Amino acid sequence: MAHDPLRVPAKDLLPMEAEIEHRRLADEVAEHDRRYHQEDAPTISDAEYDALRRRLDEIEAAFPHLRARVTQAVGAAPSGKFAKVRHSVPMLSLGNVFSVEEAEEFVARVRRFLDWPADRELAITAEPKIDGLSLSLRYENRRLVSAATRGDGAEGEDVTANVRAVLASTGIPDVLPADAPTIAEVRGEIYLSHADFQAINARQAEIGGKIFANPRNAAAGSLRQIDPKVTASRPLRFFAYAWGEMGTMPSMTQTGMVEAFARWGFPVNPLMKRCADVAALIEHYRLIERERPIIGYDIDGVVYKVDDLALQGRLGFVARAPRWAVAHKFAAEKAITRLNAIDIQVGRTGALTPVAKLEPITVGGVVVSNATLHNPDEIARLDVRVGDFVVVQRAGDVIPQVVEVVQDRPRGVEPYAFPTICPCPLKTPVIREETSSGAEGAVRRCSGEFACPHQRMEHLRHFVSRRAFDIEGLGEKQIAFFFECPVEALRIREPADIFTLEARNDAQNLQKIENFEGFGKTSVSNLFAAINARRTIALERFIFALGIRHVGETTAKLLARAAGEWPAFEAMARRIAADETEAIAELQAIDQIGPSVTEALGEFFGRTDAVAMVDRLVAQLVILPAEKPRGESPVTGKTVVFTGSLERMTRDEAKARAESLGAKVAGSVSKKTDLVVAGPGAGSKLDKATELGVKVISEDEWLALIAPAAGPDTAGG
Ligand SMILES: [Zn+2]
Repeated sequence: MAHDPLRVPAKDLLPMEAEIEHRRLADEVAEHDRRYHQEDAPTISDAEYDALRRRLDEIEAAFPHLRARVTQAVGAAPSGKFAKVRHSVPMLSLGNVFSVEEAEEFVARVRRFLDWPADRELAITAEPKIDGLSLSLRYENRRLVSAATRGDGAEGEDVTANVRAVLASTGIPDVLPADAPTIAEVRGEIYLSHADFQAINARQAEIGGKIFANPRNAAAGSLRQIDPKVTASRPLRFFAYAWGEMGTMPSMTQTGMVEAFARWGFPVNPLMKRCADVAALIEHYRLIERERPIIGYDIDGVVYKVDDLALQGRLGFVARAPRWAVAHKFAAEKAITRLNAIDIQVGRTGALTPVAKLEPITVGGVVVSNATLHNPDEIARLDVRVGDFVVVQRAGDVIPQVVEVVQDRPRGVEPYAFPTICPCPLKTPVIREETSSGAEGAVRRCSGEFACPHQRMEHLRHFVSRRAFDIEGLGEKQIAFFFECPVEALRIREPADIFTLEARNDAQNLQKIENFEGFGKTSVSNLFAAINARRTIALERFIFALGIRHVGETTAKLLARAAGEWPAFEAMARRIAADETEAIAELQAIDQIGPSVTEALGEFFGRTDAVAMVDRLVAQLVILPAEKPRGESPVTGKTVVFTGSLERMTRDEAKARAESLGAKVAGSVSKKTDLVVAGPGAGSKLDKATELGVKVISEDEWLALIAPAAGPDTAGG
């Protein structure tokens, strides 16, 4: 067993014993990896897993020839897909700003958060934002051991073999120099130059291959080749600018880190600059903007990062985006085209979204034929009519939008009349909902709820989407098929139907699925294996999959953590639906959860059809309790109230830090409060705490309490 204290040290094993134990451990680790990554259903604790891994590493260190055997076996796996890799430190996504004013506001916000005096220098780096594919390179004992794509930030694809094939063109070192730490994860962007991109497309045209839309797609397509030999033929390049796990930090500044990467042999961007103030930052932004047409590769903005890593640690994160960095995007690209029609799409929450159907046009290298018109108010504001010539704008990955009607061309005659009934067969009246303040909202909704087939269908699509249940072989196309399946017993009309499909049908019926169009490659047994693999699901994924309005991934995670387990979540949601003020206040005390979320939760769980649908679904599943926040701390799970003035940090920073350690920060003292941190001038809250016998500590005592858990965050991005 992994914890046997009598176990022989690895170096004292006989070769035969080492081989046997190594094989057993490797199989065991592989099996736990599979359960963890593919099924989200680990059967052992992280500590137990780590112990297994450690023993495996010890044996491999003592008997290096065993390592080679495992690596070969893995590399030879003829899978048509890439294995998943969980990033030891998540790969970040950055917030965006689109103007100089917003960029200045970013710096001002950082200063406010840190309470940084106006006359004190706050250095910020500026570097081009490469429009490529993010990559994380892991070095152990200074050797490249794995390369992974960003994926969803938490988990990416293992592209080690392909990266190994392009070490020469990318300049990614295979071995790091002796002064690099034992564990080093270096991150950056894989990209293609304009010239190489054109050459690849010319070559593809010659051989009748796929033509890539832009250099980023070409870089991604080249890296994610099944055959590393194809990747090797593509002249990919790389810039290093961030890091994940780092054994020892070579520097405590952003600039110093990138300098270290350069010393270790990584290509780094020559346009990165440390700027002492906002003026210098904006000046450098302008310089990069001017260089853009001649730089030779695609960039879509400038990334700003607070240079001092200790300050980065203090600033922390909002959801997945760091407070200490932002991407300043270049102005959007625009084009003029004709508006051929306005389509109405019904979303999963019933919102009617007008979509502009355009005469196809190229905007910033991508062909655009649809653009959003947001809502009826926007249509009225633009006075856009079918037949008009319109300005279409596209910025980065944002959905293209119609921003203006061109007035000097013939205009459409009729103003656009927004439909008053849903395009669904129910023909239910469209309602204009009120906002929380009681004013009329801009969004129109179909009032049919789950009776509206459009909403049901969108709800199912969301349910099976990648970040929700992610059932292999059951994507949008298959859902659309099952929704209207000619064999009635095979129909899927709500999420629970997916999990009862097999039991509801006899073998003969199920066999019919294979004959339907679009199921050629998915065998029935594979489909049900994929469905059954998802019968166990993490609470946060489950909450997200329910498709409740205003409950996105981040909110779902916050709700899951607050509740811990499904029954507690359900009880809480029902109390909110019953309008219990205490339950509502408790949830709203969580940072980033406001009235829109509690209202949407209350509305959803107040509907008998929705609750019945959820009950039928839950009966089919095992819902795992929420993950605990990273690293337990003395304040994890505690409810804390800050009062009076704090002297060592701003209120925002105190709150953010407490929450990052798993504490709940409340605005008022009640009998549920565990701890009150009181600074000078504390008034009624302090009195209340004394009255209720709640523990009160000073700011210094608070800092001492959380000190051991609050190390600098090494994430970059
Ligand atoms: Zn409808």
